[in-house]
Amino acid sequence: MEFEVGNIVKTKKPHPCGSKEWEITRVGIDFKLKCKKCGSIVTLERTKAQKAITKKIK
Ligand SMILES: [Zn+2]
Repeated sequence: MEFEVGNIVKTKKPHPCGSKEWEITRVGIDFKLKCKKCGSIVTLERTKAQKAITKKIK
């Protein structure tokens, strides 16, 4: 899957707040994902992010 900034994605595992939806705020060697529910930002290595993301919503 190809990703770009602004995509909304779903992950396999939910964030501790319960949401599985994230907005991508950065792509590159690392991905930054912003939780749609609580707004916290996590950084993941590209390979890990691609494994964690199951679906692109838009
Ligand atoms: Zn959250």
